[in-house]
Amino acid sequence: MLLDNHNRKINYLRLAVTDRCNLRCNYCMPSEGIDFAKKDKLLSMEELSKIGELLVQMGIDKIRITGGEPFVRKDLMALLSNLRNNPGLKDISITTNATLIGPHIDQLKELGIKNVNVSMDAINRATFERITRRNHYETVHNNLIRLISEGFNVRINFIVLDNQNTQDIIPILDLQKHYPVSVRFLEEMPFNGGSKKFNTIKWDYKAILSHISSTYPSFELIQSPKTSTSINYKIAGHKGNFGIIPSFSRTFCGSCNRLRITALGDVITCLYGPPKINLREIIRGNSPEYNIKRAIERVIGNRAITGFEAQKEHKGVFDNSMTSIGG
Ligand code: SAM
Ligand code: SF4
Repeated sequence: MLLDNHNRKINYLRLAVTDRCNLRCNYCMPSEGIDFAKKDKLLSMEELSKIGELLVQMGIDKIRITGGEPFVRKDLMALLSNLRNNPGLKDISITTNATLIGPHIDQLKELGIKNVNVSMDAINRATFERITRRNHYETVHNNLIRLISEGFNVRINFIVLDNQNTQDIIPILDLQKHYPVSVRFLEEMPFNGGSKKFNTIKWDYKAILSHISSTYPSFELIQSPKTSTSINYKIAGHKGNFGIIPSFSRTFCGSCNRLRITALGDVITCLYGPPKINLREIIRGNSPEYNIKRAIERVIGNRAITGFEAQKEHKGVFDNSMTSIGG
């Protein structure tokens, strides 16, 4: 079992497979993109599989594949098949913008991958295309409905953006009214590639909840796992539920069970902190297994207690983009 220096069990890995993306969501990246990594700096699928395998040996039992957009990597399905063969791994899930997932849905089903988070920050086409700066609304909407209809466990991630999509908060709840899907509203964080800086947000957890209560005055709090970052609610008569993730307020650090590895091999022990080590050169060197395990144990044994503490170690924290961290 992997325990950090604050006695928190670490069993969840967020593994980014690329920093590239076919959308340009304005809360994540500047319109011109970021300085994307050169191909040889990205971990290969074999290296990603190896890292997954070693971490499962160490106690990770849940891996979320993220990016950038995971499906821009042509060899993604091979990685998923490799990970699937590992009996120690209880859950593989994916976070995607759902633009490119369509042709892979049948194979995902065959692999038994059921948990898919779809990022969709508007139900209105014009708003969606303004935020993502691309014209893929139809594809995303169709893929979303197909995933739900084919029995995937789908969660929609909706970042609440002041002056951009708050008029869609209530309409997007119609999805969980009619479909067994969870809609999760996230506070915006200033990880947008440095193009937008802010120290406070208007649409925090309380503001989102109060906005929802003005249309749906009664909803019931649902018990969630201790490590869940979302606080979840059910509206009577609705098929799905909704949740709010206080990602800016950071009230969930006490039960954090996460480790992040970027597509370049950087190990991030807190979203708000600097990368602690890079595994790329270690895995490309001699005796990688032993060295990788020791390096990971070392950084997990030295984690900041909260995101606010981690942020003090990281001068350039908000110059980063989520596309290189993986969310
Ligand atoms: N491209 C995939 C997607 O959009 O789902 C996976 C990568 S994306 C970086 C992972 C998650 O980070 C998405 O749910 C996205 O909405 C979230 N995210 C990106 N920038 C964010 C920001 N500034 N604040 C909060 N969440 C953000
Ligand atoms: Fe791409 Fe996801 Fe970032 Fe949007 S949030 S630009 S889909 S990586």
